[in-house]
Amino acid sequence: MAFKENFLWGAATSAYQLEGGFLEDGRGLSVWDVFSHTPGKIYDNHNGDVSCDHYHRLEEDLELMNDLGLKSYRFSVSWSRIIPDGIGKVNEKGIDFYNRLIDGLIKRDIKPCLTLYHWDLPYSLHLKGGWLSDEAPQWFEYYTKIICESFGDRVKDFITFNEPQVFGGCGYFEGVHAPGYKLGKGELLRIGHNILKAHGRSVTVLRKVSDVRIGFTAASCPCIPASKESRDIEAARESYFASDYDAFLFSDAYWLDAIIKGRYPEWVYNYKGLDAPTITEEEMKLISQPIDFLGMNIYNGKYVSAKNGVLKNEDGIARTSIGWPITPEALYWGPKFYFERYGKSIMITENGMACHDAVSLDGKVHDPNRTDYLNRYIAELKRAAEDGVEVDGYYVWSLIDNFEWAQGYKERFGVIYCDYKTGKRIIKDSGVWYGKVIESNGEIL
Ligand code: BGC
Repeated sequence: MAFKENFLWGAATSAYQLEGGFLEDGRGLSVWDVFSHTPGKIYDNHNGDVSCDHYHRLEEDLELMNDLGLKSYRFSVSWSRIIPDGIGKVNEKGIDFYNRLIDGLIKRDIKPCLTLYHWDLPYSLHLKGGWLSDEAPQWFEYYTKIICESFGDRVKDFITFNEPQVFGGCGYFEGVHAPGYKLGKGELLRIGHNILKAHGRSVTVLRKVSDVRIGFTAASCPCIPASKESRDIEAARESYFASDYDAFLFSDAYWLDAIIKGRYPEWVYNYKGLDAPTITEEEMKLISQPIDFLGMNIYNGKYVSAKNGVLKNEDGIARTSIGWPITPEALYWGPKFYFERYGKSIMITENGMACHDAVSLDGKVHDPNRTDYLNRYIAELKRAAEDGVEVDGYYVWSLIDNFEWAQGYKERFGVIYCDYKTGKRIIKDSGVWYGKVIESNGEIL
């Protein structure tokens, strides 16, 4: 059997993208509320105020998860919903919401996987300096304590951070995500170091939860060898873990070498700008405490050859509606290279496709492109598992269409369709198909 027994077949979402319930029941502002309400930042000035209204439609969504046959559900907690100012007073109504979610999952035999941070920093903490503040790791530690006290009796799978590459890179380097900054190298290094210290402090707290499994999720764009020749494989491996370029926050190795190997890539130590962070041995120990799995969000990869380096995409390459190339082998080479380098079991914490979905005359949503995409990608993951890569789970992005950050509601990633006017949900054909994959533990692929 390629996929192990108890393989975690799941679907993923994040709080800001689907909850809605804006400022309801005492929720505080997050950086994404403020950013999305700033004219011109988001496609058509969309925002997450209502989104799929998951906050009010929780029971219905739990039933849909049950209909799909999910074994696990990956969600994130909105920090400012449970601690409106980020530190200090806890909002019991916010805690109640997640209790209802977690209890509803357990009742349906769906294992909760909780991401602590999926980009929605409380706005009051942003005003105190956000990730640039050296106090940020302590704030995150406090938040983790509240999470553990409130949910640690029932939730066992935790992910500290989702894609620091993207909220760091897009938010603080390119300025296209909240908070919309374009900072220089030294400040970015400080932000990176603070996020990693926050991860370390969080791991210390989470480790006290019984039977816990702790992970960290990276955004990964694997390098795929252009041929089966060993020199191309070597070139792909090398290129995948390179990080000494200006956009280093987007790289994999900057984050994961620190977390797993306890050491940044060499150039970080050689950067002598006055704004460079101080990095101590003790901090690196904190950052590199053992974790249990590596989460990988993989949507596409890039081809690499020994002769020509990273190759330009073929003319007319298949693309999703958001424009990302379709490269299923990314789900073979990414996990394989990660497992080789870091030796941790892998969870594919996101993979999926944006399509031009519409409700047909028969009232259904036919999305054969998505089914085909998922089929090809998951089959590659299966091949990786057969080749000895330890894979513990796969989560489709996303459970339901939702707010796609700077793209607003333009892009639909769900295996469930959401009519944003009425809130009506329809399981897409790909969702029905995914249910069968789950039922057969991937044997039908
Ligand atoms: C993020 C999701 C996002 C998805 C598709 C990942 O970068 O974790 O929040 O919606 O990819 O863009």
